[in-house]
Amino acid sequence: MPSSTPLQTRQFPCLSDNYGFLVHDAVSGETACIDSPDPDAILREAEAAGWRITQIWNTHHHHDHAGGNLALKAATGARVTGPAYDRARIPGVDNAVREGDRVKLGAREARVIFTPGHTTGHIAYHFADDGVLFIGDTLFALGCGRLFEGTPAQMWDSLSKLLALPEDTVIYCAHEYTQSNARFALTVDPDNPALREYAARVDALRAEGRPTVPTTLAAEKAANPFLRPHDAAIRARLGMEQAQDAEVFGEIRRRKDAF
Ligand code: ZN
Ligand code: FE
Repeated sequence: MPSSTPLQTRQFPCLSDNYGFLVHDAVSGETACIDSPDPDAILREAEAAGWRITQIWNTHHHHDHAGGNLALKAATGARVTGPAYDRARIPGVDNAVREGDRVKLGAREARVIFTPGHTTGHIAYHFADDGVLFIGDTLFALGCGRLFEGTPAQMWDSLSKLLALPEDTVIYCAHEYTQSNARFALTVDPDNPALREYAARVDALRAEGRPTVPTTLAAEKAANPFLRPHDAAIRARLGMEQAQDAEVFGEIRRRKDAF
């Protein structure tokens, strides 16, 4: 059953290019922070909102996502949920979760989607009733996470799960990388009108110092080359007309690494 109140969300810049996120359930008064990039910034934001942090939900073990867990836990007593496969590398995990598990925020719940590739244990949190996805470093606006630990096939499998979600899903990515992602995307898909419009919009937003996050699944499906390895124009440009989607995806990722 959808909750009678909408999920409340606050997004704020952290560290050099991370975003911090708070999600709040007004009925129960529970508040979760998604990852813990900067405990001081997160505590300030919670205070400004008048929310008390009761949970920390980690997407993966990298320091800019889990490095603030212990400080935040000490300051708030929050319960920490994190990916089971990364448990040994994430400080303070109380609740280790896997694909399909439900995580509660009051009466509301998010479903865990296992999205390995950036790290072997990466997970995302999907509030299906609210149409909101916290994707960590798996997908970025016009980009995707670097494959530090996983293979292209693994990452493509993870991204394919996201493609099955409703198109109007609002996607919160953990970094503001969109402008540089757009420059690369235009090298593999230069004639895509949706991408060109998106890139122009991003330039305008960044010129005003405004965030390009969140995005939507519909916008990414139309313009993000990492979600479009099936696209004939991209395949032709890469000379990979006959390849599998995962191979085309891998080639786009390889080119981005060298960009
Ligand atoms: Zn990361
Ligand atoms: Fe990160």
